[in-house]
Amino acid sequence: MPENSFERRLGLHRVIAPAKCLPQQARTLNSALPAADDEILISVQSLNVDSASFHQFSKSAGGDKTKIAELIESVVRERGKLQNPVTGSGGMLIGEVSSVGKNIKNKDLKSLKPGDKIATLVSLTLTPLHIEKITRVLPEIERIEVKGHAILFDSGIAVKIPADINEGLALAALDVCGAPAQTARLVKPGMRVAVIGGGGKSGLFCLLQAKKSAGPSGRVIALEYSEAAANRLKNLSFVDSVVCADARDAVTASSQIMRALGGEPADLVINVANVAGTEMASILSCKTGGTVYFFSMATSFTAAALGAEGVAADVNLMIGNGYASGHAELTLNLLRESTELRSLLEYIYETKAE
Ligand code: NAP
Repeated sequence: MPENSFERRLGLHRVIAPAKCLPQQARTLNSALPAADDEILISVQSLNVDSASFHQFSKSAGGDKTKIAELIESVVRERGKLQNPVTGSGGMLIGEVSSVGKNIKNKDLKSLKPGDKIATLVSLTLTPLHIEKITRVLPEIERIEVKGHAILFDSGIAVKIPADINEGLALAALDVCGAPAQTARLVKPGMRVAVIGGGGKSGLFCLLQAKKSAGPSGRVIALEYSEAAANRLKNLSFVDSVVCADARDAVTASSQIMRALGGEPADLVINVANVAGTEMASILSCKTGGTVYFFSMATSFTAAALGAEGVAADVNLMIGNGYASGHAELTLNLLRESTELRSLLEYIYETKAE
């Protein structure tokens, strides 16, 4: 085990193979007890499996819940973490703090107490995890309920599940909290902002934050694919205009965005669509010197970089880092502030969980 505190902070002491790899890149982790003095031990209650990963497990299992559970159990048994070998992705967990090591230095983690109900905001792809038993599989919300334990390193991120927000909704918000936090940094008063995929979870948070930051002189528009979701957006006070289009059709979608912005391109385009092939609609909608923020995991670096060059678009292309300091609190506060946002998300997500 490395004694170097930098390495331990990053969790290298829990890596089995290949040696010297960071936990996320490692094939296998050691999830055995006891937890060390610089670790947090969590009694795990449920795993929110990443959407792409859950779909892959479900497809391999032919949709059978028992087989899905067996597949997930076998991955965790072999790897000591939940990292889907096909998609490479993980998810996040909910559990109760069992112990906080006396050598934890991270001030957010240090404030946790045994018994606190938390969600971890670092991926399951780097979290040592042991599952004793999967007790329930909930495909509608891509969640599994488990009995087991997980370990958080000193570099980890976790937030207490707020008492005033329904758990399902809080999780939905925490899953995408990097996007509204970056939106708050990027949007200045008076800006023209377009959100591609605006009717989804992260899209709604970004739209509200963009309007808050751009103010009455700014213009915030949403592009949404389905007519039903586009119609829901039209009723929101923080959305100035809604375009219903397919963002994979770059020319039509960008023309419609510019029309909605009074014939001008956007200062900032936020891409939160969950499908591939929407890079060029985003780039073509952005003004020279403006920024395109790709939060979508379906973004291709090559398509964005070569595509921008190919149309001589001098725009800043930003990768959607899921972490920004203060991201969880900012996002939960958006839910607390806006009954419009909260009711719509409750409608979309809580009905799914029933
Ligand atoms: P979501 O709720 O499913 O929203 C995605 C939205 O994209 C939906 O409103 C969907 O519309 C829309 N869309 C689908 N196809 C479209 C098309 N052809 N043209 C225009 N819009 C289209 O997803 P989410 O949870 O907000 O996540 C959004 C993206 O962020 C995903 O790619 C996810 O992987 C990524 N993400 C990134 C991070 C990070 O750290 N960077 C973290 C979490 C999530 P319909 O419902 O009408 O199909």
